[in-house]
Amino acid sequence: MLRLRMELRRLRSWRMAVLWGLLVNVQAAVAADKAVGDATEQLRGWSKLVEQRLFQVGGRVHTAVGYTLSANSMIVGEDGLIIIDPGHAPALSAKVRTEFERISDKPVVAIIFTHGHGDHFGGAAAFLDEGRDVSIWARQNFGAEMRANSQAGLTPWRRPAETQGGDLPPEQQIRFNGPVQVMTPQQRAAMMAQGARRMVRPTHRFAEQQVELTIAGVSLKLVAAPGETSDQLYVWLPEDRVLFAGDNVFHTWPNVYPLRGASRSLRDWADSLDKMIQEEPRFVVAGHGNPLLENAVEQLTNRRDAMRWIYDRTLEGMQRMMTPDDLVEYAQLPERFASLDYLQPYYGSWEGTIRQIYVQLVGWFDGNPLNLHRETSLQQAQRMARLLGGEEALAAKAQEAAQAGDPLGAAQLAQHLLRLQPQRMEAKRMLADALEALAQDTLNMPMRNYSLSYALQLRAQIVQQE
Ligand SMILES: [Zn+2]
Repeated sequence: MLRLRMELRRLRSWRMAVLWGLLVNVQAAVAADKAVGDATEQLRGWSKLVEQRLFQVGGRVHTAVGYTLSANSMIVGEDGLIIIDPGHAPALSAKVRTEFERISDKPVVAIIFTHGHGDHFGGAAAFLDEGRDVSIWARQNFGAEMRANSQAGLTPWRRPAETQGGDLPPEQQIRFNGPVQVMTPQQRAAMMAQGARRMVRPTHRFAEQQVELTIAGVSLKLVAAPGETSDQLYVWLPEDRVLFAGDNVFHTWPNVYPLRGASRSLRDWADSLDKMIQEEPRFVVAGHGNPLLENAVEQLTNRRDAMRWIYDRTLEGMQRMMTPDDLVEYAQLPERFASLDYLQPYYGSWEGTIRQIYVQLVGWFDGNPLNLHRETSLQQAQRMARLLGGEEALAAKAQEAAQAGDPLGAAQLAQHLLRLQPQRMEAKRMLADALEALAQDTLNMPMRNYSLSYALQLRAQIVQQE
């Protein structure tokens, strides 16, 4: 704690420092004092699957993992190269191109976007040259999910805190999409602006369920496969029996509900997996991380069946009038699925999936009549303080919960206190401590990152106030 206090004093005098600098330094000092939970250790192990590596997937397919925020592939055709998902930023995708050029000096003749998330298509410019025609393929509804967010005026990647962990200091960052990049907001904005300037759009879009193409002597099929996004496709290479799954498959429970906000259909997703299984692929290239080089069909089948199991079980519980909070326990996966590492809630969460199914089917009302008589956050805090005997009693109870090793209880009470006294530093500190403790035991990366980033913002406010 002494170190932390010295750090804070040092930071206080650093008047010209940008807020981001404060955030990272304070969090680093705090993190050093805390033990790391098992869940965090497990997540760190998971993130090793995206360490930089080149894979040969069958004879003429190569996949680069850990160079950009997604997995980037090349098919070597007779007289040209086909790139699938070129990555997120031209500067980093250029390194992938350099690696691929060591394998083949044939020209790039086509690029395929598996879906309209920037981490998969934003770096396409790195594979284009002046004066050379390259056909760029995607679904007709390419970009549909992101468009829905931006049309509603919602900043796509942010809620109050960051779910990807981009604001966290490097030693706190756990990601599953390539190299950790610590950037100031200015640097990030500059990178986004550069990406936007060099944005490459599809030249060929298809509205059918599938199209069969021959490019550079390679026969391939592009198949509509709604799942992680409604504009998702998979690429099937029948001669090599390689399937490029986009983000419908990677080493985690599927992200049916992203915390940043979107609506994804678990049923469509499972049906798309079903189509992939019918192809009987030997190898499956995932949207992030290592390709599936063994037991690919078995993994796809378990994934599909587990998703359908959760859907059916949730529905059954709903018919019995269970609320989402209770369904989260009721619809837990059975051991035969829950024990599989590639179905762990590293990125998508079981809980988020169950809640999302509920919301999609019946909306926000959970059947509890008390939820028809809600109050504002401030009114709830006032009531809690009244029940506990005043605001000081509320503060004491929060402290007690923290000392008793109940971070969730401490966080709930500290949050009430903060609503009543928005400037009370002790409440901010208790809430930040509790969120950090909860994050250490959270296996889901976005939930962990969100909690830590939120705590970091509270700590920055404390520094500014002092
Ligand atoms: Zn992705």
